[in-house]
Amino acid sequence: MAESAHSTATLRLAMGDLRIAHPITVPNAPVAAAEVVPALQGLVNAVVEAAERGKAISCRKGCGACCRQLVPVSRTEGERLLQVVDAMPTGRREALKARFAAAEAAIEAAGLKEREGRSDRELSTAYFAMGVPCPFLEDESCSIHPERPLVCREYLVTSPAALCAGPKQEGVTPVAVPKVSMAARGLQEDGDDWFPLAMLMAWGRTRPRKVTRRTGPEWVQRFLRGLSSSR
Ligand code: SF4
Repeated sequence: MAESAHSTATLRLAMGDLRIAHPITVPNAPVAAAEVVPALQGLVNAVVEAAERGKAISCRKGCGACCRQLVPVSRTEGERLLQVVDAMPTGRREALKARFAAAEAAIEAAGLKEREGRSDRELSTAYFAMGVPCPFLEDESCSIHPERPLVCREYLVTSPAALCAGPKQEGVTPVAVPKVSMAARGLQEDGDDWFPLAMLMAWGRTRPRKVTRRTGPEWVQRFLRGLSSSR
């Protein structure tokens, strides 16, 4: 009998008051880390659903104020997003690349291309002050919603939506969602490995080309180790 191409296991996570039991399915063959991103998206969705249960979430389609924030993306997710962009029809892809070029130019002009010497908080505040929309934002909605980064999934608020556009975001009340996305940052290498989403194309031009392949269960184990060390 042929062996199954995939393995499924139920992950049981305890994070603060939250208890998550989520089935995760990954390939058995050695694959690039980007291949397990859909499984990680499902895991983050399950964590977010548990965290938002019983809360009145204000976030709505067409409300993209938060999509001017600095969005930290792991190398693994960056590789997946480049595949998503490559699969787009030519016209859509070219329009998107033009928006990335505009965002890159704004970031460079603001002197924010290099992260060194700035805390994450300083960088986040400076990014938001620029008011540069995420290149994936169209009509104030996410044009890649099913593929949006893990960290985008984790950001939900219960405060009035109008407050999210305020320069200092005073009064904004995010839902306390465990930041599972952090574990993706060290998935391929040890240590913090991320870049701002608005720099996806620039990162794509210089990214590491060496592809490490591991089985799906091995990638999940590495992710879970990263998750326990980030908490
Ligand atoms: S990827 Fe989508 S949800 Fe995330 S910042 Fe960009 S437009 Fe917003």
